[in-house]
Amino acid sequence: MEIDRILLTQEQLQTRIRELGAILSAEYAEKTPVFIGVLRGAVHFFTDLTLQFSHPCQYDFIGAASYGDGTQTSGRVQLTKDVMTELKGRHVVVVEDILDTGLTLRFVTDWLKSKQPASLKLCVLLDKPERRRADITADYIGFTIPNEFVVGYGLDYQELYRNLPYIGVLKP
Ligand code: 5GP
Repeated sequence: MEIDRILLTQEQLQTRIRELGAILSAEYAEKTPVFIGVLRGAVHFFTDLTLQFSHPCQYDFIGAASYGDGTQTSGRVQLTKDVMTELKGRHVVVVEDILDTGLTLRFVTDWLKSKQPASLKLCVLLDKPERRRADITADYIGFTIPNEFVVGYGLDYQELYRNLPYIGVLKP
């Protein structure tokens, strides 16, 4: 497998992430939000996005797995790591790489809502609305993309390609 083409360049990613950071900075100026990154695909998006947030905030991480080693969802979601922060009464922003079928984020957001945060919003870098199976929409979206399997900037295929600085489409 190799990269067929670049869908989003490093520059396009960084420009859009600066915009998202400005939007979040305006909306959460006084709220000391807890940014929760979903491991592991969101790592680069999480760090770049939070560096663009210009007010006090906290970090935490949650682990969830739904894909096996292939490119199709297994449909089953498993929590692999819970958050450490007390979320009751807090303003939570979940930061995820991609919203595809929505099964992972449906599970993760239901889990986090049970901890009674004051608010919970969802920020995703990529949205693939064509494949949605769960009833969920993101509050902040970097890019809406077509139904293609993408890698890079945290996203993997069989655990590889996460360190590409751009988002690319794999050769079929
Ligand atoms: P969902 O539960 O929404 O179907 O999928 C969420 C997870 O599936 C993402 O966090 C990501 O790990 C994986 N995923 C979905 N679409 C893609 C894709 O196009 N490329 C890669 N590498 N992973 C994907």
